[in-house]
Amino acid sequence: MTDRFETLAVHAGAEPDEISGGVSPSIQMSATFRQDAVGKPRRGYEYGRSGNPTRQALEAAIAELEGGTHGLAYSSGLAATQNLLYLLEPGDRLILSDDAYGGTWRLASKVWSRYGVQTDAVDLGDLDALAAALSGTPAPRMVWVETPTNPLLKVVDINAVARLAASAGAMTVVDNTFATPFLQRPLELGADVVMHSATKYLSGHSDVISGLLATGRDDLEERLRFHQNAAGAVPSPFDCWLVMRGMRTVAVRMERAAANAAAIAEWLAGRAEVSKVYYPGLADHPQHELAKRQMRLPGAMLSFELAAGEPAARRLAEATRLFTLAESLGAVESLIELPAAMTHLSVAGSPLEVPAGLVRLSVGIEAVEDLLADLEAALQEASA
Ligand SMILES: *Cc1c(COP(=O)(O)O)cnc(C)c1O
Repeated sequence: MTDRFETLAVHAGAEPDEISGGVSPSIQMSATFRQDAVGKPRRGYEYGRSGNPTRQALEAAIAELEGGTHGLAYSSGLAATQNLLYLLEPGDRLILSDDAYGGTWRLASKVWSRYGVQTDAVDLGDLDALAAALSGTPAPRMVWVETPTNPLLKVVDINAVARLAASAGAMTVVDNTFATPFLQRPLELGADVVMHSATKYLSGHSDVISGLLATGRDDLEERLRFHQNAAGAVPSPFDCWLVMRGMRTVAVRMERAAANAAAIAEWLAGRAEVSKVYYPGLADHPQHELAKRQMRLPGAMLSFELAAGEPAARRLAEATRLFTLAESLGAVESLIELPAAMTHLSVAGSPLEVPAGLVRLSVGIEAVEDLLADLEAALQEASA
């Protein structure tokens, strides 16, 4: 019998502790493990960078939640991304979603470019543009999808991209940070690897920096596992435990946050001060139908622009009381930010540049009436 996601989220990777029977996994801080004879580790663990029981529990959990067979944990989302990019060779080409996370673009365009990997930013919502990019030389080795995108909330058809990429011999990676496996299942849609900044929804409390990968491909797991150990960007056992604790409640948090976001998006769309709202749950969102097909719920991230432009957007972001002005996203508390001046500063002047007056909300799980009242007061202050 296959359990539903909500059940898996609570139980995935959880084996009662062998010694104490503890229901919460033990945090095993040991950096090294006793060997019974030379080269004969007692429980298969030798050295903490190569393997650790707390980390292994988290890795099993993300594999289960994404419907894969292997999970890998890292010290940050970008460390997970870096580890994936080690699959590329000099001369390879990477196709990146044209409003991908700024840090992903920075790593590809400023670091990997120095090692001979060329990155092209493509609007993955335009399958003709993708087909053209895939037929270029050298042939792309990897297509990096982010959906919904950050911060413009475009929705990309994962199955269509994965099929096109596979027919051109490229693998498909999906950054599933915004959606979580509760809302969206990239491996079932044909992706080869799923990447997460577990800093966001999976841990969900703004208290840990962490990254995860999941795949159903044994050949990729072997290479990724080699690089995880070889490059060493592994998470601490305590961080692994924190992420796992957060993952237990991801379904209920996501449900509440998405319901709040939907109500806020509708409310903003009806305000005269707001010129544009970006949220896949709105009927006038360009990929609304695709979002309904591909995602269980449209998520809890949304962006909007004010008719009065950037100065008013700045005043608004500084005027909210409950929405904390901060980078990051995906936690219980609501956050507000201006991507062009904060999270997306590193993409200024690049194809990934975002509108200066764009405001991004990460909607939390507070009472929606309080969040709306907060936005109402801040909108009034910003347009005074
Ligand atoms: C935050 C984020 C990352 C990077 O993850 P870190 O944990 O900050 O290294 C990658 N992709 C998306 C969509 C993110 O939001």
